[in-house]
Amino acid sequence: MNRLKSFALVRGGSFAMAACVAMLGAAAASAQSGAAKVPAAAAERSTTATTKPPSATEVPRRRTVIIDAGHGGRDPGMTGMTSARRRLYEKDVVLAVAKQVQARLEAAGVKVVMTRTADTLIALGDRGRIANRENGDLFISVHVNAANPKWKSPGATRGFETYFLAEAKTEDERRVADMENEVSRFDDGGERTSDSAVDFMFNDMLQNQHLRESSELASIMQAGLRGTHPGPSRGVKQAGFRVLVTAYMPAVLVEIGFGTNGPEADWMSSTAGQAEAGLAIADSALEYLARFERRVSGGTSGPGK
Ligand SMILES: [Zn+2]
Repeated sequence: MNRLKSFALVRGGSFAMAACVAMLGAAAASAQSGAAKVPAAAAERSTTATTKPPSATEVPRRRTVIIDAGHGGRDPGMTGMTSARRRLYEKDVVLAVAKQVQARLEAAGVKVVMTRTADTLIALGDRGRIANRENGDLFISVHVNAANPKWKSPGATRGFETYFLAEAKTEDERRVADMENEVSRFDDGGERTSDSAVDFMFNDMLQNQHLRESSELASIMQAGLRGTHPGPSRGVKQAGFRVLVTAYMPAVLVEIGFGTNGPEADWMSSTAGQAEAGLAIADSALEYLARFERRVSGGTSGPGK
């Protein structure tokens, strides 16, 4: 609790210390109803019914979530194949899922900023800068995983995993970071994020605070996806993602599945699968915000205390 209060203070007052009970009541309620898998469109239609008016002592602050659909434009990301031999491009899948997340969060009263809404390439460093400029409360980057073709049976590898920014500990974590960082070869605008910037991040106290928050957000994200995803959870992981370095807020990168696995490619390229993935990610963000809000308010007003 204390660390969160100091977190709020270091944020230069951007966090209102007063509890946003009304907004969070709605957020927590919709996070729970997420277990019932309400379609995003249906949730959107019922927005007005879920927001209680604040009392005189409550100062609601509308939270901002940054949704980052990976890749775009001339960077397609990974390329996969559905069971019906239809080609799948990561940039298209993640944009569709990001739009589902956006719809769900906006229906719950959260402000959403998308780093891209069309098939365009945004430099990795610029994605974080957008997040900072918009004063985001959390940052979620959406990606699709790819098996290494040198593996014994690459097509059989499946499952979802969520990363937070820290030094990679395993070869597999380094593989995913290398894959997602490689996009920087397409960057021609925007400032490069140097390796020294990554080193600096690891030594920065505020970013260390964000690491703990990001790790918790990643855990919530994995739990949320577990209820809806056709594949297994590959767990919370950590690696040095360039897209996360410049976002000065709790930030995660979610790999929603393997586009190189037929059934998962089918799921993530279907409208229903994209809606399920989007709902799980959005409800996880709402759950995180609700927990966060309860802690910054001192744990006195939250239903979970
Ligand atoms: Zn990617």
